[in-house]
Amino acid sequence: MPEHKSTHDLTTNNSALTPSDFLTSYDVLVVGAGPVGLATAIGLRKRGIEKILVLDQTRAFRQVGQGLDLLPNGLQSLRYLDYDAYEAVKKASITFSNSQPANQAQKPPDTLQKWHYRNLQGEIIRSISLSFDDWFQDYGEGRVSISWYNLQTALRNLLPQDQVKVNHRCINITDEPENGCVRIDCVSDTTLEANPYAYWNDPNSEKSEADSPQSISKSFRAKIIVAADGINSTIRQVLYKDSHNQNFAIPEYSGFVAISCRAIVDIPKEVQTELEEKFLHGSPIVTICHNEMSRTAVGDTQDTRILLFSRVSGQFGYVIHLPVALESIQNKSGSSWIELALQTFEQAEFPHALKELVRLSPLENMEQRPYYVHRVTSTNESPQIQPNWSAGRVVLVGDAAHGMPPFMAQGANQGLEDALIVATLIAKIAKDNHWQDRQAIETAFQKYESLRRPLMAYVQQATLRRLPYSSDKDWEEYGQQLYRRNFDQTLESLFIK
Ligand SMILES: Cc1cc2nc3c(=O)[nH]c(=O)nc-3n(C[C@H](O)[C@H](O)[C@H](O)COP(=O)(O)OP(=O)(O)OC[C@H]3O[C@@H](n4cnc5c(N)ncnc54)[C@H](O)[C@@H]3O)c2cc1C
Repeated sequence: MPEHKSTHDLTTNNSALTPSDFLTSYDVLVVGAGPVGLATAIGLRKRGIEKILVLDQTRAFRQVGQGLDLLPNGLQSLRYLDYDAYEAVKKASITFSNSQPANQAQKPPDTLQKWHYRNLQGEIIRSISLSFDDWFQDYGEGRVSISWYNLQTALRNLLPQDQVKVNHRCINITDEPENGCVRIDCVSDTTLEANPYAYWNDPNSEKSEADSPQSISKSFRAKIIVAADGINSTIRQVLYKDSHNQNFAIPEYSGFVAISCRAIVDIPKEVQTELEEKFLHGSPIVTICHNEMSRTAVGDTQDTRILLFSRVSGQFGYVIHLPVALESIQNKSGSSWIELALQTFEQAEFPHALKELVRLSPLENMEQRPYYVHRVTSTNESPQIQPNWSAGRVVLVGDAAHGMPPFMAQGANQGLEDALIVATLIAKIAKDNHWQDRQAIETAFQKYESLRRPLMAYVQQATLRRLPYSSDKDWEEYGQQLYRRNFDQTLESLFIK
C-alpha cells in the first residue's frame, strides 16, 4: 500500500509514531459527515474558522438513509448557523403535497396537506400540517421533508471538497495535553463497503476494518474534535471506556422495533375498501394507534402503532412500531416478524383489515429495525447518571450524544441545535484565542451540555412516551417548548457569566 504524506495528515502502516512525528494541522476536526457534522463545519467556517476537516467512514457518498422532517427548531438552527445552508436545504427539500403523483391532484387539499392520526375506529385524533406556511404561521419558522442523502448533499456542497474526506473510519482518539491537541487515528479501506448510514449498523457488530490486510492507518491532530459519528459513535466508546460512563458507551435498545413491508399487492377488495374508507380517506399516509398512548411503562401493547401508506392504487405498505423485547426479533425470519406483529395486534385489539394486511405481507419485502437510544439521563442507575457529552477537547453532538427513536422527528433537528451551540462556542474560543486554554475549552463544552441537556431530556421523554400526541394540551405545550424559542436569547445566554 503506497504511503501518502502531507502537511495535514500522516499515513503509516503502524501506530508506532511518536507524537512529535505529527503536525497539529487542524483547529477543529469533525468526525462524521452526517447532517450534524456537516452543519457544524459550515457554522465554523461561517464564523471564520477555516482550518477544519470533516472525516467520514463511508467509502463514497451514496444514496442511503430515509426521509426526515426538519421542523421549526432544526430549520431555525440552520438559519442561524448559515443562511446559505438554510436556503440550500429548503431548495433541496420537498413538501408532502408536491411529491404526490399527478393523478391525485384532484383530491381535496386536506388529504395531501395533513398527516392524520386515527384511532382504531378510524376517527381523527390528531392532524399535523405538512405545509411549510402553516408551521411558519404558528411558530415563525416552517417545516420541510427531505431525504437524509439530499440533506447531506445540500450541506456537503457548501464545504470545499478538500475539507470533507471519505473512507476515513475513526478508530481511536488520544488526548495529548503536552501538545495541546488530540490525535485521531483512522483506517482507510480499499475493499470494504461500509454502510455509511450509521443508524443502520448493528452496534454490537465487530468493526473489523482495522484488521483487514487492505486497510491503511492515518492519524490527524486537532485542537478540538467534534464527534458527530452517529448513534454507534466510536468516539463515544473510546471516551467512555473505563470511566464512570462506561455503561453508556453503546446505545441501549429503546424497547421499540420497526417492522415494515415495502409493498403488498393482491389484497382482497373488502380489505382494500376498509383500509381506504376507514383509515386513508384518500391520504397517501396515515398513522393508526390507540386513542391514548400508554402513560405508564414503555412496553404496553397499547403503544403499538402502524403507519399505513398507499402509493399506487390497491398497493399498500406499512411501518409498525412495536413495543417488544429485542430477543423476540433478533436472529428471526420475516415470517416470525409477521407472527409477532399479528400477536401484538391481537393483544392491542387492532382491526381485522390491518391484521389481514400484515398476514399478506410478502417475506421478500419485509424489514425490521430495532431503535436504540443514548439516554440523556440513566433510568436504572441509582443515583442517576448523566453521561457526559464532552471530555477535554472532545465534544459529542447529534446522535452520538443523544440518539433516539424517530417518533417525534427530532433526531436531526436536535442535532442541528447542537451544531449551532457548539459552533458558536468554538467561535468564541477562536476569537479569544483560547485554543491552548484547555480550561476555557472544557468550560465552553460544559455550557453546551448544561444548556442542551434539559431540553434533550424533555424531548427524549416525549419521544419514548409519545405523550404530546395524547391530548391537545400536551401537544400545544410541546409545540411551544420546542418550536417557539428565541434563539437570540439562547445564544446570548451562552456568554452571560
Ligand atoms: C427511520 C428514521 C426516521 C427519522 N426521521 C427523522 C425526522 O423526521 N426528523 C429528524 O430530525 N430526525 C429523524 N431521524 C433521525 C435522524 O436521521 C438522525 O437523528 C440524524 O441523522 C443524526 O445525525 P448525525 O449527523 O448525528 O448522525 P448520522 O446521520 O448517523 O451521521 C453519522 C455520520 O458519521 C459517519 N461515521 C460513523 N462512524 C464513523 C467513524 N467511526 N468514523 C468516521 N465516520 C463515521 C457515518 O458514516 C455518518 O455519515 C430519523 C431516523 C430514522 C432511523
